[in-house]
Amino acid sequence: MQYFSTRGAGPVTLDDALRLGIASDGGLFLPEQLPTFSVSDFDGAETIPQVAHVLLGPFFVGSSLLDDLDAILEETFSFPIPATPLPIEGHDVSLLELYHGPTVAFKDVGAGFLAACLSRLEGDVDDPLTILVATSGDTGGAVAAAFDERPGMRVVVLFPDGRVSDRQAHQLSCWSDNVVSLKVEGSFDDCQALVKGAMANKALSSAHRFSSANSINIGRLLPQSTYYADASIRHYRRTGNKPAFIIPTGNLGNAFACIMAREMGLPIGPIILATNANRTIADYFETLQWLPRASLQTLASAMDVGDPSNMERLRHMVGEADVLREQLGVLAVDDEQIRETLRKDFAEFGFATCPHTATASYTLRELDEATLDAHDWILVATAHPAKFETIVEPLIGETVPVPEELAVLLERPARAISIEPTLAALAKVLA
Ligand SMILES: *Cc1c(COP(=O)(O)O)cnc(C)c1O
Repeated sequence: MQYFSTRGAGPVTLDDALRLGIASDGGLFLPEQLPTFSVSDFDGAETIPQVAHVLLGPFFVGSSLLDDLDAILEETFSFPIPATPLPIEGHDVSLLELYHGPTVAFKDVGAGFLAACLSRLEGDVDDPLTILVATSGDTGGAVAAAFDERPGMRVVVLFPDGRVSDRQAHQLSCWSDNVVSLKVEGSFDDCQALVKGAMANKALSSAHRFSSANSINIGRLLPQSTYYADASIRHYRRTGNKPAFIIPTGNLGNAFACIMAREMGLPIGPIILATNANRTIADYFETLQWLPRASLQTLASAMDVGDPSNMERLRHMVGEADVLREQLGVLAVDDEQIRETLRKDFAEFGFATCPHTATASYTLRELDEATLDAHDWILVATAHPAKFETIVEPLIGETVPVPEELAVLLERPARAISIEPTLAALAKVLA
């Protein structure tokens, strides 16, 4: 399989697409064509690594990693990803729990896979690869966890100071010496601009071997399609119906993986993107004009994205807004609606959800009766609520139990360096 940039450059191999992260022309890599599947192709695939083997095998044809694929998948999918039925009278609704990995957010899947691939391709103790990662909260922790203590790999995490939860900040800063944590005096967009700036800077990129691990890396997207494949196949085998998905969306990496899975023929019905008050996608579908903007700070902070990078992939693969809005729903959910939903979820489900997941459950409750009746629904739970306890606990009036994975991390010491949002400040730390 060969890979091309959304802006035309290529072809490159999977190995190079993984190494480079972003294409030489500034575009994002996509496979030259998507393989297609029918449900019976997955007969006999019972575990998630087995489903992933069938689904991802074609993407690895021609890659030096092909022989390692099963080992990579075992490392990536080392935790369960269950779809738990929700107590909603008269409807088949479940919650796809993507939060059982090391940092209790869905990004553990993409980060784990990318780390498993890159360390095999590029790990070099004499000349370490430097992974630059901008994070609005969860990416950095997942990437740090995935690369922590991997020989020949260095991770530099940039996060917006004061705009992530305390527990998130801790998860971004509690790693070994090969992880450098930077709190940037600015927004997520500033962090992302710094990463792009550093990678585009000739002097810096010749001094360091850079790679990125943001959701622009194709290695983040590919494995995420697996849990949509697994959940939809299970649901289809059980009911004969193609489930509809509602996906909390920021940079569009998670949702893109679901859309890709549907394009590959998996039994997936409607897909609805639930965003927070950052309305860039909702406005695009409404006005047909793509107007990226600065991000707004919201309670669902890992979705505070005003210029979702993966829209470039989506427009390339599917089409412009007039086409996209026929194939996808979108709803922007504001903070007041998130608050109200966190209370309702706890009361009605009997357990707490996180502020990101609440955008999906809000969206479900907003569906008209006919739409709700027409499908079975899978809400995507992107993080564990214990990560956002300062938001969730006052609203539900109870303590959210801390899962074991998170408890282990919170006991480690944390350290982070403050920097101004300038390339000069970043260059200094890198040296
Ligand atoms: C990153 C993240 C999102 C948004 O995912 P995208 O792939 O950026 O759309 C949603 N919820 C949580 C908890 C996240 O960490």
